[in-house]
Amino acid sequence: MSLKLRKIYRFLRSGSPHTRDYLAYKKFLTESSHYYKTSYFNLTIDLELAWTRARRGDGITTNEESLEKSHRARTVLPTLLELSEKYQLPITFAVIAHVALSDCATHDKSAPFKPYWAKSDWYDLDPHSNLELNQDYYGADLLTEIKNSSINHEIASHGFTHVDLGDSETTRVVAQFEIGQSEEILRKINEDLSTFIFPNNNVAYVDLLKEFGFTTYRVKQNQEIKKDSLGLYQFPNGLWISPQAFSNQDLVYLIDKGVSRKQLINFWCHLFEFDSPREFTSFFEPIFSHIESQREQGIIEVHTMKDIVRKVNE
Ligand SMILES: [Zn+2]
Ligand SMILES: [Zn+2]
Repeated sequence: MSLKLRKIYRFLRSGSPHTRDYLAYKKFLTESSHYYKTSYFNLTIDLELAWTRARRGDGITTNEESLEKSHRARTVLPTLLELSEKYQLPITFAVIAHVALSDCATHDKSAPFKPYWAKSDWYDLDPHSNLELNQDYYGADLLTEIKNSSINHEIASHGFTHVDLGDSETTRVVAQFEIGQSEEILRKINEDLSTFIFPNNNVAYVDLLKEFGFTTYRVKQNQEIKKDSLGLYQFPNGLWISPQAFSNQDLVYLIDKGVSRKQLINFWCHLFEFDSPREFTSFFEPIFSHIESQREQGIIEVHTMKDIVRKVNE
């Protein structure tokens, strides 16, 4: 269904062409009583390849769906990197740590983990192969491309294999393995590793994040950046964006709202939400170029999550 049709249906159903999340975010940007020294923009891209699978009620994403998403993400990434260089826009990459590998030699053996909603052990998905033979569960080449960019992107952790740490089946042992392995793998790529993005934004086992040296995580709700009781920074959720749900003008409108009130505008998405590099460019380029003109006027700063946390605490 086209975006236009979706909007018409939404309007007929709810009286607004916009999603509930969009309206809530607009309200937050418009009414938040807190404001920063200037407005900030961050874009987070979740990089998962075929580890993108997740629980679906009492079932799980099919392998077919995960592989198709993996192919799309691989196809679109070079275009994202080109655009971010063209507009000098640093991105926060929330990386599934297994994606950062070229084989399984460097990770530990998993303990059994068989949630009742999965047909087999969660870790059976690991092909125990290598990048040359399998580009869906290994993506060390992609991390090299990100690191080689002239833009200083942030590598953040999105877990080791996308286990939802807040799921009722996830034990402390599993959480420790997911957080710990991700930290060990990703710190080799980013020695300043500090940000954790929970799969499904399900915040859980924050004490383990602290133990492994993470200092910032994204929460499920929108709020100002603030410390939790353990001393870690909570970064607001922002808005999940997709060409299925929004036009780029919808998002430009939110950016303008946020800029006028010195807010942090935080968007996040997956590359698989775009059918092709062409769709990615036509969606994002007007947004990036709008931000560029605001940056030239000195009314917005674009940074990654880690740098925004640093900036607001200066
Ligand atoms: Zn492996
Ligand atoms: Zn994810």
